[in-house]
Amino acid sequence: MKKVQTTCPYCGTGCNINLFVENGRIVKAEPTKNHPVNDGELCLKGWYGWEYVHSPDRLKKPLIRKKNGKFSKDGELVESTWEEALELITSKIKEIKEKYGADALMGFSSARCTNEDNYVFQKFFRVAIGTNNIDHCARL
Ligand code: SF4
Repeated sequence: MKKVQTTCPYCGTGCNINLFVENGRIVKAEPTKNHPVNDGELCLKGWYGWEYVHSPDRLKKPLIRKKNGKFSKDGELVESTWEEALELITSKIKEIKEKYGADALMGFSSARCTNEDNYVFQKFFRVAIGTNNIDHCARL
């Protein structure tokens, strides 16, 4: 069994965790001892919340709403490639920024991301997009 040390992705606390992997599947988790964030402790999500990783219902590719093969807000969700999804997102961001200015956009991140992910996300919005309209789901 392989032991993989990583950061729990469920919340921004960032507990350190050891995942035990057998035949490419996570079979159990335990807290890393003597780590400054969680010092051998985990909440229930960190201990037991790993089955979703292998769920067949998990989304693994982006979905785009399409009608007649093209993006449409009224279309059906269709599986797409990351390249197509990122191109669509980029073109929509540019279009909105050109038409209404950077403050017409906002970034909404997640408490389930690591602190590092959230840092990069807010930096991207402030520097690359040019707006301070940033928040994340912990306020909901
Ligand atoms: S979900 Fe629980 S175990 Fe995971 S980082 Fe947050 S507090 Fe730690």
